[in-house]
Amino acid sequence: MSESLARRAAALDAADELAGARKLFALDDAVYLDGNSLGALPAHVPDRIADVVTRQWGQLRIRSWTEGDWWSAPERIGDRIAPLVGAAPGQIVVGDSTSVNVFKAVVGAVRLSGDPARTDVLVDATTFPTDGYIAESAARMTGRRIVPVAPGELAGALGPATAAVLLNHVDYRSGRLHDLPALTAAVHDAGAVAVWDLCHSAGALPVGLDAHGVDLAVGCTYKYLNGGPGSPAYLYVAHRHQAAFDSPLPGWTSHEDPFAMSPAYAAADGAVRGRVGTPDILSMLALEAALDVWDGVAIETVRAKSLALTDFFLECVAAYVPDGAVTSLTPAAHAERGSQVALRCADAPRVMDELIARGVIGDLRRPDVLRFGFTPLYVGFADAERAARVLGEVLEG
Ligand SMILES: *Cc1c(COP(=O)(O)O)cnc(C)c1O
Repeated sequence: MSESLARRAAALDAADELAGARKLFALDDAVYLDGNSLGALPAHVPDRIADVVTRQWGQLRIRSWTEGDWWSAPERIGDRIAPLVGAAPGQIVVGDSTSVNVFKAVVGAVRLSGDPARTDVLVDATTFPTDGYIAESAARMTGRRIVPVAPGELAGALGPATAAVLLNHVDYRSGRLHDLPALTAAVHDAGAVAVWDLCHSAGALPVGLDAHGVDLAVGCTYKYLNGGPGSPAYLYVAHRHQAAFDSPLPGWTSHEDPFAMSPAYAAADGAVRGRVGTPDILSMLALEAALDVWDGVAIETVRAKSLALTDFFLECVAAYVPDGAVTSLTPAAHAERGSQVALRCADAPRVMDELIARGVIGDLRRPDVLRFGFTPLYVGFADAERAARVLGEVLEG
């Protein structure tokens, strides 16, 4: 059994058109299945950062804001992310954390919806906690009420009282992929504004923001986009909303003429309006360098490999792991699956510690979920086979 799975893994790796991308990353022989928490380091980034620090900051100093184009980095890097999430240029700005961008987006969405009779902000009840906490505060500040709703029950919860809806494209715990086109259309049918969190989908699968008429979106860059720990997040505001987008954090760098230093605020046009304060240049330029690994990569190819990897991993788990020892929380249907596999398992903390000690790096979501993220640029089929084999050994032992 294990020999034939190992042989299949080798054949799948040999036929993999993305296999060459792995050498772009600094990796060792551990199987790294935690790129959905912290993407691996692209090997060329340290040299680029050394240049930013020693030459741009150390020698050019203040001149780098203009001559080195530090000033426009948030929009420039937003335009690098845009094709990965199906957005035309000019709609994405990079900066701040995902949490802060959730705040801008939810308040911005309520303000776009306009009508005070729309009293409800709907939020994914299973969301990553920060989104729920911040949406609740945003609702309170805008005089609305927060209504937690499971994404599967959204259709029944939408109505004339809905102002805005915050949803996750992929659930961080289970890896479930939600139907962005259909849910966005349902939100629009109710006359409300749709905000999507792309943290677990951008860089893993096609998103199609423009094609599906998404209003606002946010996402982080340190997971599938490999921007580095705490790298800045991004905010998407669709072109058609930009003129009316009213940021709750109108910092000076979003002003139409920031160096006029005017006491009166006047918002800039376009994506710039989503900026707040001085951009976090070191992290931002690390992210910009990291995005080079996507040159020439089609997100559809990434998606096809991601599904093949998670299928193969689940097949290997079924073959190697004792019956009944784990239950997959990740949907079997491709249309409902992101790029991770979540396995419910007794004694999960000990099992994950043991996996890590044996060179298989996943993570734990308490109390009982083992999470394995599949990042197609640097994870291969032999990795999937080895991870499942080691999991089987740990659970047998
Ligand atoms: C990773 C993640 C975040 C992270 O937010 P930070 O502000 O970067 O800490 C937020 N929301 C979701 C859905 C995530 O997966």
